[in-house]
Amino acid sequence: MPGGVSSPVRAIDPYPFYVHKASDSRIWDVDGNVYIDYCMGYGPLILGHAHPAVQEAVTQRLKLGWDYGTPIEAEIALAERIQKDLPSIEMLRFVSTGTEATMSAIRAARGFTGKDIIVKIEGGYHGAHDAVLVKAGSAAISTASSLGVPAEAIKNTLQVPFNDIEALSDVLEKAEPACLIIEPVMGNIGPVLPETTYLTEVRKVTEENDTLLIFDEVITGFRLCTGGAQCLYNVTPDLTTLGKIVGGGFPIGIFGGKKEIMECVAPSGGVFNAGTFSGHPVSLTAGIATLNVLNEEGYKRVNGLGDLLRRMLVDLLEELDIRVTVQGIGTLFQIFFTEKPVKNYQDALTSDVDAYKKLAAFMREEGIFLAPSQFETNFISLAHSNEDVEYTIRAYANAFKRLYNLDVDTAGY
Ligand SMILES: *Cc1c(COP(=O)(O)O)cnc(C)c1O
Repeated sequence: MPGGVSSPVRAIDPYPFYVHKASDSRIWDVDGNVYIDYCMGYGPLILGHAHPAVQEAVTQRLKLGWDYGTPIEAEIALAERIQKDLPSIEMLRFVSTGTEATMSAIRAARGFTGKDIIVKIEGGYHGAHDAVLVKAGSAAISTASSLGVPAEAIKNTLQVPFNDIEALSDVLEKAEPACLIIEPVMGNIGPVLPETTYLTEVRKVTEENDTLLIFDEVITGFRLCTGGAQCLYNVTPDLTTLGKIVGGGFPIGIFGGKKEIMECVAPSGGVFNAGTFSGHPVSLTAGIATLNVLNEEGYKRVNGLGDLLRRMLVDLLEELDIRVTVQGIGTLFQIFFTEKPVKNYQDALTSDVDAYKKLAAFMREEGIFLAPSQFETNFISLAHSNEDVEYTIRAYANAFKRLYNLDVDTAGY
């Protein structure tokens, strides 16, 4: 296995810990160490690990077999549930990963408009397919961010910085692209929030320039609130991609939106999309069970816990006189090792990534599993408690004390 792992971010220095089991907010390694988990599978597990409702639903499903290659009623149930909560999704297609969802949404946008050029946000992550693997900071000519991606495959991908409506307007006017794909709250360089009117303006300028707007809500969908970022910020995209939470911890992706666009997808239309595991019964079942547990009260509690953690963290850093930036929203949080607020990818790049790595390593010794990279987001789940948060703040105090050789008594935290 290259790097010893199945996905690059898991290659924690000097070597990753192997997990034996997990439940609620806790994860156990094969040596018997236990951690409070804020990685949470990188996003799907908003209920925490091994939630009994999901376990029960999946167990019942397994008794009936688990892969039929035919439509099943659970597809309708999940589709209707998604349509109720995200009314912009008039028609949708189930696929197996977020990567497939964004790849297919982009293909649908290109197929529908007959245009090739697409625009993405610098540092925005939309999975691991060719068209979106573009290096940041390359203005005129796009450069691949991965070996093996032909220049041909990305020559139609343009980028603009997040929170910069003028740069976007400019590119839309000049290039007349098929679509803009954007994470409404950036989650893959750490959490970066849209400024007050940014998303409303994004909608306005995309509409004015006949560019389809794709919200990549693979992280934010059913996380920020039931209706995702499009509900929270009251902006209606043409297409939406979902994943992570909607599969309840099993592989899933969804792309959907305006009926006239989605009707272009095969077999209704000529935009090809297919998959052996698309609409997998176990993923659908786990997704439905997960969404059924989530309610207003749950979101209120879990987002409140996020507020508490960020507030306590800010207070702690102030007391220790450490100048770093705490960012997040709802259940998302991260410390950027930079003094300025992070508004886009270039800001994020000013962070001291080595300091973050050390902090994350010290935190693991304190029994806390944080996302191992500065450019990832930490996730709180419904299984986390106030006590978990308090314990975590104490751990941060100890970790920062070690990181900066501080001569303070952290016992009081
Ligand atoms: C995780 C993620 C993806 C890719 O999803 P996979 O299931 O890992 O393929 C796409 N977009 C965003 C915003 C993501 O966070």
